[in-house]
Amino acid sequence: MARTTRVTKALPRVHEIRNLTESTYVLRFDRRDLEFEPGQYVSVGVKGDIDMREYSIYSPVDADFLEILVKEIDGGHVSRRLRRVRPGDEVEVDGPFGFFTIDEPDRRRPLLFIATGTGISPFHCFAGSYSDLDFRLLHGVRTAGERYDHDAFPSDRLTTCLSRDPQGVAAAAHVARAEPVADGRAAVGSADSSAVAGRVTDYLREHPVDPGTRCYLCGNCDMIYEAFDILKGHGVAPEHLYAEVYF
Ligand SMILES: Cc1cc2nc3c(=O)[nH]c(=O)nc-3n(C[C@H](O)[C@H](O)[C@H](O)COP(=O)(O)OP(=O)(O)OC[C@H]3O[C@@H](n4cnc5c(N)ncnc54)[C@H](O)[C@@H]3O)c2cc1C
Repeated sequence: MARTTRVTKALPRVHEIRNLTESTYVLRFDRRDLEFEPGQYVSVGVKGDIDMREYSIYSPVDADFLEILVKEIDGGHVSRRLRRVRPGDEVEVDGPFGFFTIDEPDRRRPLLFIATGTGISPFHCFAGSYSDLDFRLLHGVRTAGERYDHDAFPSDRLTTCLSRDPQGVAAAAHVARAEPVADGRAAVGSADSSAVAGRVTDYLREHPVDPGTRCYLCGNCDMIYEAFDILKGHGVAPEHLYAEVYF
């Protein structure tokens, strides 16, 4: 009688969980031989659970591990279970998937990145993977505590839009006044110096965008639809608008 042996492939193991806020964390795990393009996402779940969810890859393309940035959703199935895994645990990972990538010619053009919440994840990957991108990043969050890893971005390329934190904006203005550079502009090196009150869409309405700019948007669909209309109103062609919708 022929014998068969079942070979079970070992799953990627968790390296660490880095908490950024009470609800948001970075999960790092084995990359194995997974090849991806910056901007793509993977499907991730806990071992043995058939439910998996999509998460943009947060870590740079040349890192020998993979990271995802996850917000734990109240009542959410996967985002809560992933929070509870421990270093050494196995996780289910599938992919990569998606087309939210920057074509080679566009990497030499002015780029506008617009994110809400954990939608900053693919932009973190872009910034860490391509050293000479000419980008500006607008990050919309409710409070200053949600500026996830802003130190990873040059502060003169980053504007934080705080929708529910007037004190955070006032504190940022204080930091900017306290650390002026020689020509009197806000201090470079302090991410706080570019915080403004309101949503990213308020900021976009007041700040026209050069029509030649390639615009990449990531986050919730309400922001994306509203921002698309504003950007088209500024003269940006629809074919130069790219979006990754999270929910
Ligand atoms: C292409 C893609 C990439 C994504 N990348 C990321 C990422 O990098 N980081 C990240 O945190 N999430 C990301 N998401 C969202 C993620 O896939 C899950 O939807 C999210 O983690 C919730 O899953 P859950 O199982 O915990 O909640 P579920 O059990 O699926 O849903 C519970 C409830 O929460 C609502 N909900 C789902 N997602 C959200 C949300 N993000 N905010 C508020 N309410 C929500 C649902 O409508 C539902 O009512 C991405 C989604 C897509 C499609």
